[in-house]
Amino acid sequence: MKTIGLLGGMSWESTLSYYKLLNEGVRDALGGVHSAKIIMHSVDFAQIEELQSQNRWDEAGKILNKHAKALELGGADFILICTNTMHKIVDQISLHVNIPIIHIAKAASEKLNEENCKKTILLGTRFTMAENFYKEIIEHNNIKVITPNQEDMKEIDRIIFEELVMGKILQESKEKYINIIEKLYSDDNKIDSVILGCTEIGLLIKKSDINFKIFDTTSLHVNKALQLALQK
Ligand code: GLU
Repeated sequence: MKTIGLLGGMSWESTLSYYKLLNEGVRDALGGVHSAKIIMHSVDFAQIEELQSQNRWDEAGKILNKHAKALELGGADFILICTNTMHKIVDQISLHVNIPIIHIAKAASEKLNEENCKKTILLGTRFTMAENFYKEIIEHNNIKVITPNQEDMKEIDRIIFEELVMGKILQESKEKYINIIEKLYSDDNKIDSVILGCTEIGLLIKKSDINFKIFDTTSLHVNKALQLALQK
């Protein structure tokens, strides 16, 4: 079994999900008391969040570069950066390590393609929804990406940073997310799926909450890692 390097803490609420899902996946695949081989570096999210909001991505990148290198030196065979947003600078981080970084949006895009999805709603932080770095990877597979309007984006982003990353899971916010999804669908009934493109949204929205396909990027990222870790 290969050793998985987790670059976590963004936020630790979702890194917990990664840790649990990876271990459950290895237990289910190998049985008995088997568990995943994991090395983790977990950052202080306050520092990263401040740099994100001040658009100081290079500096945030420098912090992540250091941790990625440490994961490599510690014996990780590959790395998962446990956040969608920080994939904005994944190319920069890749330059500092000689092991693969498993791209979360590529894992999502592959799965949507496999399931024949053609038009999908992307929910995530304001960076993930409004900028191109994430959408272009999904659209590479000829999947059209729909994002909420400005006002709804703002509210989705606010709920991520003021609630989900701090472990606050509120019914009221869940309803807001569901309303936004339903509104987009009522404007365009060719929509066939929703990407939970922020690693904490899966803590709020479950498959049973929505009638069409939901792709939770945390689970898809984990599944990709399990495939690689367990490859013979
Ligand atoms: N975990 C989140 C994501 O998947 C948001 C935290 C961050 O801004 O890195 O994008």
